[in-house]
Amino acid sequence: MNQATLVTEIKQLKRTKSAVILAHNYQPREIYEIADFIGDSLELARKAEQTGAPLLLFCGVRFMAETAKLLSPDSRVILPEPKAGCELAEMATAEQMRNKKKEMGDVVTVTYVNTTAEVKAESDICCTSANAVKVVNSLPENRRILFVPDKNLAAYVAQETGRNIVPWEGFCYVHAFFTVDDVRRARKEHPDAVVISHPECPIDVLNASDRVASTGGMLKLAEQYDELVLGTEAGMCARVSYDHPEKRCYPLKPDAICKNMKRTSLEKAMQALKDETGEVTVPEEIAGKARAAIERMMSVSRPNR
Ligand code: SF4
Repeated sequence: MNQATLVTEIKQLKRTKSAVILAHNYQPREIYEIADFIGDSLELARKAEQTGAPLLLFCGVRFMAETAKLLSPDSRVILPEPKAGCELAEMATAEQMRNKKKEMGDVVTVTYVNTTAEVKAESDICCTSANAVKVVNSLPENRRILFVPDKNLAAYVAQETGRNIVPWEGFCYVHAFFTVDDVRRARKEHPDAVVISHPECPIDVLNASDRVASTGGMLKLAEQYDELVLGTEAGMCARVSYDHPEKRCYPLKPDAICKNMKRTSLEKAMQALKDETGEVTVPEEIAGKARAAIERMMSVSRPNR
């Protein structure tokens, strides 16, 4: 079946089943064609909460589908590729969290949304790369903060807030290996471009960039600039071009690809929608606590606050 036919059939199935398709910005370009909403983790979490659809097809990775399930407990949430995990999320387990909290004593735990539901359930509050600074600034000033699991995001938040942050030793393999030399090379090749990097990159790369932004933030910044270099997953340029075909967008590193994000295909999306397989569930005893940590984040990061 060719791509256009697949897209038409998926859209038809979506209508028949009253399903909503959510897609992360890093998904393959053809997935944008079937999505009702494309966004970063925070935007998709909010959409999942608002949609009320009986069936959500989540084109992304497992922790994102779990978050959608936590916020839309009455919807069935399906991940088209059950093997789509996240290496960063797998760097922290609930047991390790419990041990670390015991060892540290009086500590507030801030957990990046890129974690399993079990780890969220062990946390005081969640954050995304878009709201991490705001979330940390909302906490009482005298408290020590355990920031899980991304050490680069932790370093950025510590720099921006001046707070006492103890980082977990995790990292995203897609972002952690960008270097200041990559930024220098990009500036030479594209002297008129603004360099925008994701806060999962090392702090020296962030400080060498013009702007720091989540993927949602990058998309907003793309409205202001004609030429951009993006220090994030290389597919983000396809996302910028989807909304702004007239912009010139270059990845900081063309081989910075998240293999799990690219596991989704139109064929898998159609099959999952047809058979309703790949359902993501979270046991209620974990879901209640994990949801509370996400809702605390949502109340801090709502735009009207
Ligand atoms: S880009 Fe990094 S953090 Fe995002 S899903 Fe892939 S491995 Fe996980």
